[in-house]
Amino acid sequence: MIIAVDFDGTIVEHEYPRIGAPIPFATDTLLQLQRDGHQLILWTVREGELLQEAVDYCRGFGVDFYAINQSFPGERPEEKPSRKLTADLFIDDRNLGGLPDWGQIYHMIKHDRMFEPFDSSVMLMSRNNNRSKNIFLIIGEAIDRIKNGEAAR
Ligand SMILES: [Mg+2]
Repeated sequence: MIIAVDFDGTIVEHEYPRIGAPIPFATDTLLQLQRDGHQLILWTVREGELLQEAVDYCRGFGVDFYAINQSFPGERPEEKPSRKLTADLFIDDRNLGGLPDWGQIYHMIKHDRMFEPFDSSVMLMSRNNNRSKNIFLIIGEAIDRIKNGEAAR
């Protein structure tokens, strides 16, 4: 898989333009994903010297990116019709639902369980919520039932 990873707030605490404190297990997880055969793209607002500091930081832990702020090595901006990066997955602290912890990120990728945090938040919400259910919760519960092998009746 091609996995795009943000830097500030994702690999290190958000202290931009400084490099923040390490986020626990971020570089360990990236290293393991790299060993598992995934290609990592660093996808950050950093440019120039600030970008180099981020690259060097990661390299210090053995994390080498396949590409940096581009979809593949050597991509030229003028060849690209869209600014959106071509990746299978994005890991970013601005994700909807926030950044899971890195152990959970690894588990989700390894076991292809991308919706786990959503599922658990749905469970929490339905447990604590007396209001009438919103349609997305109802759909989510229906999907859960199908996943658990209960036929729709
Ligand atoms: Mg960020």
